[in-house]
Amino acid sequence: MSLTIGVDVGGTKVLGGVVDASGRVLATSRRDTPREGGSELTKTIAAVALELMQQHSITAVGVSAAGFVSSDRKTMLATPNIADWNGVQLEVELTKLIGLPVVIENDANAAAWGEAKFGAGRNQAHMMMLTIGTGVGGGIVVNNELYRGAFGIAAEFGHLRVVPEGHLCGCGARGCFEQYASGSALRRHAREAISASPDLARNLLARGDGTIDGLTGQAITDAAREGDAVALAAFQTTAQYLGAGIASLAVLLDPSCVVIGGGVIDAGEILLAPTREAMKRYMPFAGKHPYPEIVAAELGNEAGLVGVADLARN
Ligand SMILES: [Zn+2]
Repeated sequence: MSLTIGVDVGGTKVLGGVVDASGRVLATSRRDTPREGGSELTKTIAAVALELMQQHSITAVGVSAAGFVSSDRKTMLATPNIADWNGVQLEVELTKLIGLPVVIENDANAAAWGEAKFGAGRNQAHMMMLTIGTGVGGGIVVNNELYRGAFGIAAEFGHLRVVPEGHLCGCGARGCFEQYASGSALRRHAREAISASPDLARNLLARGDGTIDGLTGQAITDAAREGDAVALAAFQTTAQYLGAGIASLAVLLDPSCVVIGGGVIDAGEILLAPTREAMKRYMPFAGKHPYPEIVAAELGNEAGLVGVADLARN
C-alpha cells in the first residue's frame, strides 16, 4: 500500500505523520517550531520527514502551513504568522533535502481535504470547511476536488467583510468575518455580554482571574456547558454571525455539507445548534431549496496532516 507523509506546520509544533491510503496515521514525529522561521523551519520539516522515512517506505511528502500558497503548490507566497518565510520556494528546497516529491498546501485547505476524504465530509462531492480558532480559515471542495483559485487565496473566508467599517482585523481591513465568528470573537462577545449584565456575569468571571481579560475560550465553553446564561449568550452571538456567514457562502458555493472544525468546535452542539438556526433564518429564498447540513469535524488536530498526506499521494 502506498504510504505518504503529511507534515503540519503549526505555531508551536511541526507534526509529521505516515499516512496510508485509507487515512490512517501509522506513525508520528514532532519537533518544536523554530521561532526564527526561515531556513531553520524548512530544515525542521525535512528532519521530521527524514525520521519517518527511516521506518517506512514513502512515495511523497505533503506539507501544510498557514499562509498563501501558490496555486501550483510550490511556493509560500506570504506567511503573515511565520517569520522569514515569505516567497520561499519550499517545494524545491524540501525536495533537495528529502529526495522525494513534495506538495505544499495551505493548512485550512489541507484540513478541508482531510475531512472531505476521511472525516465528517466524506461522500460529499460539494463541501466546505470552516476552521474556527483564533481566526477563521476555510477550504472548499467542488466536484470532489479541492478548489484553489487562480492565485492561491481561495477560501479565505475569515476575511470576507461582514460589517462595513467594523472591528479592525489583523489583515488590515475592517469588519472581517473572523472578527465576529472566531474563538477571539467568542471572547469579545463574552466581554460585551458581561458588560451588559455584570450581576449575572459573576459566575463566569470567577472561572478566570476575576477580570474580563482573564477569561479563556475554554472557561466560556465550560460555563456554557453548565448552562451559564452569559456564556450561552456569547455563543448565541457568535452563532448568529457564523450562521449568517454560512448562509452567504451557501449562496456562492451551494455545498451539501459544511464542516466546522478548530478549537471552538469543542463546544459541539452549544455552537452548532444555534448556528443551524441562524443559517436558516438568514438564508435567501428560505424554504425554497434544501439546506446544507452543518456538522462537527471528526479528525481533530490531525485533519491537516492527513489531508496533505493524501494530496501528496495524488
Ligand atoms: Zn481580515
